Amino acid sequence: MLRCRKAKIVATLGPASNTYEVIKKLHLAGADIFRLNFSHGTHQEHQRVYEIIRRIENQVHSPIAILADLQGPKIRVGEFENKSITLTEGSTFILDNNPALGNQERVFLPHPELFQAIVSQTDLLLDDGKIRLHVVRKTDTQIFTIVVIGGVLSNRKGINIPSVTLPISALTEKDRHDLDFALQLGVDWIALSFVQRPEDILEAQSIIQGRAKLIAKIEKPKALEHLREIVSLANAVMVARGDLGVEMLPEDVPSAQKRIIRQCRELGKPVIVATQMLDSMVHTPSPTRAEASDVATAIYDAVDAVMLSAESASGSYPVEAVSMMHRIIKQVEEDPFYASMAELYRPTPRETVSDAMTAAARKVAETIPIKAIVTFTETGTTTLMETRERPQSLIVGLTPNQNVARMMGLFWGTYPILAKQITSFSEMISTACTVVLKENVAKPGDLMIILAGVPFAKSSGSNIMRVIELEATPQED
Ligand code: PGA
Ligand code: MN
Repeated sequence: MLRCRKAKIVATLGPASNTYEVIKKLHLAGADIFRLNFSHGTHQEHQRVYEIIRRIENQVHSPIAILADLQGPKIRVGEFENKSITLTEGSTFILDNNPALGNQERVFLPHPELFQAIVSQTDLLLDDGKIRLHVVRKTDTQIFTIVVIGGVLSNRKGINIPSVTLPISALTEKDRHDLDFALQLGVDWIALSFVQRPEDILEAQSIIQGRAKLIAKIEKPKALEHLREIVSLANAVMVARGDLGVEMLPEDVPSAQKRIIRQCRELGKPVIVATQMLDSMVHTPSPTRAEASDVATAIYDAVDAVMLSAESASGSYPVEAVSMMHRIIKQVEEDPFYASMAELYRPTPRETVSDAMTAAARKVAETIPIKAIVTFTETGTTTLMETRERPQSLIVGLTPNQNVARMMGLFWGTYPILAKQITSFSEMISTACTVVLKENVAKPGDLMIILAGVPFAKSSGSNIMRVIELEATPQED
């Protein structure tokens, strides 16, 4: 859907929003990408929601991107005799390989590989960091800890171990099963949780085999040690501040966020800032001013998308949260300071024909009043390279490939349109004109830039640029 903003909104769907009526409202209010969270729900439920989104896509005649987020190797404790226990500071507590129900002294740790990986003197963070255990001693079957910060620990609560590279793949058995299912459904993006090393990306890609694009979720400090390689290999990145914020000190999260964004901007990869952006809107109809400012900060950094999790999935005000995000983005993008920030942080073009062309297009659009930069693309690459420039005018992504059109919905400032395959220069001009007129992107008399790669129908990157004035009835020239 053509919107008057550059940054996109990702809305997670869940019990508060998994009906046709609410999804339609979310889309009309500003949600560009829908996220199916495979940490919750059955395949049947995801399929039902997937079909609703595709039905809406059909009605609005505009591609919608769908993202399947895999749970990943979230480590959890087992269960307790009385459902929960209370840990007090200074007491001892054991995690072991005994599947029996836990008690005040011990609990089952259902991840055998961790008995090797966890060493003495590391800290274990439980229940989103609310409880902290310090490992004093361990054997091959037991981990002895002292409670540093106590609290109530209930069945199957999560454990984060920030200081250790875990000897586990980012894909569990459940993830592989979910991944197969999501690919069969036809989702456009797959998000991989708890990426630790570049190999995690390669492993997922070897299964996906180009059937969807891959988002690396950065939520472990270990991933920051290999950030450049991970970003290079992935198709996009998510700053997953929920888990990252548990594994890092709060004061370290903002600079990590900025570093991830800078790396993505430099390498020309889409980046999403996620989690707790408008968290108080889970319960109240308006956000705190600090939350509004958090969204704005990401927009000033020109991220491709901002994301809603519980706000749209299980909160009381899903539509209001999307509208709020939409308004904050618009307000920031209208601020003259926003444009000067883009100027300041624009990465330099690399020494490629494609980068030279996309940078030139951006310059032309600054010199004369260009309504749209129309990019012809087979794979999305030409369009993505233009977004790396963060030009002021709208980028139109024209592609004959439906999957590419949907996938480009995540790109900053990009309006994706499904168009017929072009085979000649004159067809390129007439298709571009017809489409922008039909979609109300521009009107007769407006100037626009066309960027394409010749020979046509080959994914070669852009190597031609043409500036044209729109005519009321496009002619082939
Ligand atoms: P999650 O990922 O919601 O799947 O945990 C996002 C995050 O950790 O921020
Ligand atoms: Mn997470």
